[in-house]
Amino acid sequence: MVNSFETAKEKLTAYLTETKKSKTIARYNVLKAVYEQKSCFTAEELYQQINANSKDRVCFATVYNTLLILQDCKLIVKYRLDNAVSQYYEVASETEYHHFIVCSECGAMRKFIDVRLQNTIRSKTFKGFKAQKHTLTIYGLCTACSRKKKKKG
Ligand SMILES: [Zn+2]
Repeated sequence: MVNSFETAKEKLTAYLTETKKSKTIARYNVLKAVYEQKSCFTAEELYQQINANSKDRVCFATVYNTLLILQDCKLIVKYRLDNAVSQYYEVASETEYHHFIVCSECGAMRKFIDVRLQNTIRSKTFKGFKAQKHTLTIYGLCTACSRKKKKKG
């Protein structure tokens, strides 16, 4: 089940109560911003967006710590991709499949959706193993980096 923002808020409140952490407005602002993301995001991107849209400034440490809390609550997931410049986060979902392209030079990352590929992998069965989800990362060169490489000869 994908968590709606309201469910996520309840989960966060329950977690903060249980762990005796304070229920600060900043933490809920971070959660709200997370749920406004359409795709993967970095802590830095989230931090900049929150402070661009809100009068109540949130410091980077709060954003980062709240992301750790949200991971503990299983509301978001973190991707560790080889070569990627940053750690990427995304709202957790059980059904979604994660396909990425990563530039081996600069580490820029993008998510892509390919329904045929998804269905092919989804239909794959393994003896004595039940697949639940998968991550696929394709490494290569982004346009900017391939241009740079061409210039260098
Ligand atoms: Zn690149």
